Amino acid sequence: MFLIDCPFCGSRDQREFSCGGEAHIARPPRPASLSDDEWADYLFMRKNPKGVQYERWMHAHGCRRWFNVARNTATDRILAVYRMGEPAPALDGQAPPTPCGEPAVGSGNLALGQGTPAAAKPRVATRPGAPAKPKSAPKPRTSAKPRATARPKSKRPAKAEETTS
Ligand SMILES: [Zn+2]
Repeated sequence: MFLIDCPFCGSRDQREFSCGGEAHIARPPRPASLSDDEWADYLFMRKNPKGVQYERWMHAHGCRRWFNVARNTATDRILAVYRMGEPAPALDGQAPPTPCGEPAVGSGNLALGQGTPAAAKPRVATRPGAPAKPKSAPKPRTSAKPRATARPKSKRPAKAEETTS
C-alpha cells in the first residue's frame, strides 16, 4: 500500500486509483500500413521493467482523471507525478533502478545465480510422469502423419491458398 499524489486532488491512498499500464505508447499514425507483428507489438508488448517505469494512473474513486506516474516497480516509490500530455521527466540518477542493483530486465535469473540473462539456461518444467528428457532442438519428423496434438504453425498460408484456388 502506498500513497499517490493525484495532481487534481492531492495525496490519496493507492486503493483509490487504477493503474492503466505503461505510459507514452503512441498509437501508430497509419495502423493499416503495419504488419500483423508490428500491430501486435503495439497492442501487447510492454517493457515491464524491475525499476523505474512510467505509468498511466486514474483516480477511479476520486476525480476520475488520468495522469502519469514515474514509479519504481521494485519498491513502489513514486518519483514523479505529471499530467497527461506532459513529457516524461528525466529521472537518471535519482534512484537506483532496483534495491539490489540488478539489471531491470531478467534480474530474476541473477537472483537464482544463473548468470546473465543471455547466458541463463531456460528452465524446463516437467509434468509428473513425463519423461525427464528436456526439450531441445526439434528432431526431424520421420513419420508423414502429423501428431494429433500438433497445431499448424500459422493459419495464414492455408487461408491464402483457399482464397486463391
Ligand atoms: Zn483525483
